[in-house]
Amino acid sequence: MTTDQIQISFEFFPPKTPEGREKLKAVRAELNKLNAHYFSCTYGAGGSTRDNTKGLVLEMREEGYDIAPHLSFGADSEETIHGLLSDYKDAGVSRLVALRGDLPSGMGAPAVVYASELVAFARKHFGDHFKIAVACYPEIHPQAPSYSKDIEYLKRKFDAGADAGITQYFYHADAYFYFAEECDKAGIHQPIYPGIMPITNYQNLVRFSDACGADIPRWIRKGLENCGDDKEAIRAFGLDVVTSLCEQLIDGGVPGFHFYTMNQVEPTRQIIENLGLLP
Ligand code: FAD
Repeated sequence: MTTDQIQISFEFFPPKTPEGREKLKAVRAELNKLNAHYFSCTYGAGGSTRDNTKGLVLEMREEGYDIAPHLSFGADSEETIHGLLSDYKDAGVSRLVALRGDLPSGMGAPAVVYASELVAFARKHFGDHFKIAVACYPEIHPQAPSYSKDIEYLKRKFDAGADAGITQYFYHADAYFYFAEECDKAGIHQPIYPGIMPITNYQNLVRFSDACGADIPRWIRKGLENCGDDKEAIRAFGLDVVTSLCEQLIDGGVPGFHFYTMNQVEPTRQIIENLGLLP
């Protein structure tokens, strides 16, 4: 199997400092050698990273990269979002990751413009110009009223015109396969790309996972605890865990992977090498 048969995308967050932006240039050049189908750049709901996200997206377009900006309405007006989408279109951006987003704490009431509404908005004003991906949750979104309701709401995003799903990260391959089956039963036949989070730091992983509702299996928690402060041991254990997860997913026929790179080349590159997917 090669990256021609399995689609690989890489997610960045927009760096806040000139040093971070400079470093990311080298990171994307390295990751691009791995046959990246496209890159994506996160967005702070409520517009908290609007300029940084847009800056990185336009910079990467100038360098010729296929880059998908993440976007959410937050509390922004239709005019603001329309303007942003127009600028992206003019710059040759042809993809979008459409989200509801989470407002940063301290920004008041949570945003209530659902991702399905943003997908509908982009389709209404820009037709088929953008390939639109949406978020989905094999372990179910933390605010969803139930498993079946979450799938019903996901279906609305596809009915509104989304082309693909990208999952929240997870460490149970079975959760993905069950979810994909339930999506299929609900009439969702678009590809669902597993989001892959490499493991590099125990505390950060626990913090992120608690916030986004991703379950860290007990054996992974215990294995990481066992590594203590030994960074090399954490790196090696994390690589084994995530490589094995990806192998199970490939065996189960996933269409590709979306890597949450955390703006680093490693360990994403090493996982791809372990999988025998280097071009
Ligand atoms: P939605 O699909 O709108 O769903 C949100 C919740 O509302 C779910 O519980 C759903 O079941 C429920 N719901 C949906 N429609 C309805 C309805 N009509 N009535 C009642 N309930 C409804 N966050 C960021 O801030 N910036 C990013 O760049 C970012 N990128 C991400 C990329 C990926 C691949 C993923 C998986 C997540 C990302 N997130 C990002 C996190 C995401 O914004 C949060 O998980 C957020 O809480 C939900 O966004 P959503 O687009 O999935 O929301």
